[in-house]
Amino acid sequence: KIIKFNGCYHGHTDSMLIKAGSGLAGTAEASSAGVPSGVAEDTLILELADLAAVAECFQAHPDQIAAIIIEPLPANCGLLPQRIEFLQGLRQLSLENKSLLIFDEVISGFRMGLGGMVEKTGIVPDLTTYGKVIGGGLPVGAVAGKKQVMENLAPIGKVYQAGTLSANPLAMVGGLSTLKELTPAFYQKLEKNSEKIVTTFGQWFKEYEGGKFSHYQIVRQGSLFWLQPNSDKIEQSCNIPADLCEKFYPLFETLLNKGIYLSPNAFEIGFVSGAHDDSVCAELKKRLWD
Ligand SMILES: *Cc1c(COP(=O)(O)O)cnc(C)c1O
Repeated sequence: KIIKFNGCYHGHTDSMLIKAGSGLAGTAEASSAGVPSGVAEDTLILELADLAAVAECFQAHPDQIAAIIIEPLPANCGLLPQRIEFLQGLRQLSLENKSLLIFDEVISGFRMGLGGMVEKTGIVPDLTTYGKVIGGGLPVGAVAGKKQVMENLAPIGKVYQAGTLSANPLAMVGGLSTLKELTPAFYQKLEKNSEKIVTTFGQWFKEYEGGKFSHYQIVRQGSLFWLQPNSDKIEQSCNIPADLCEKFYPLFETLLNKGIYLSPNAFEIGFVSGAHDDSVCAELKKRLWD
């Protein structure tokens, strides 16, 4: 069995297309048609930030939990930074129970610095997954991990892993070229411009039409940011009110009319990239106050 957290997204493999069930805590049901119930049964869904529930889950399924998978910086249900103690607790529990800890850094990888959340937290998982920016715009996914674990993969080990597009030369060159750009100077600039963009939004929220959007909260972690329309404290788990999108549309529409295009989905976050340079920051200011 594998422990997954509500609100974290790990791609469209059957065992990860699972959401929390309506019955007992920890039960699961498929979030897509076509997922066999036998597969759903092996995925245990828990809430983020709740370490006690993870400990209980291990007790309830002794010697049955192969791994815990988590986005160490959950970024698919808004942006929900977790307390370091929670992530450290997962590492501890997985070690105690001889389970693997998998960090899904498909979003946070290379965005939160070169070493991603592994570097930022100092927590070393057994496996880490990467995708999205690692390909420099070309389709690439990658898995990294401890030698002892990686040696299970073919051709050295018994776990089959291959595909027509695996190690695709064009995608590899695209990814490598991107990674070579990721110097300390790049990250300094990225941090500076991310802060600038978010500060600009914050200031505009206060001023626009006498504070029409002043209830907005901005969550930022490095080059990732989330503009969310709740004045309440943001929870660390993904129990976000159902009317979030409805509340978000006025902002989306206002910005779109100014030529500033956010994702239309309130749960999607914003990403600052190398293309967002000083001139883009200046243009953002100009358009916001125009
Ligand atoms: C997008 C995403 C994935 C899936 O990546 P694909 O390349 O679409 O398979 C996995 N994990 C996280 C955190 C993602 O955001």
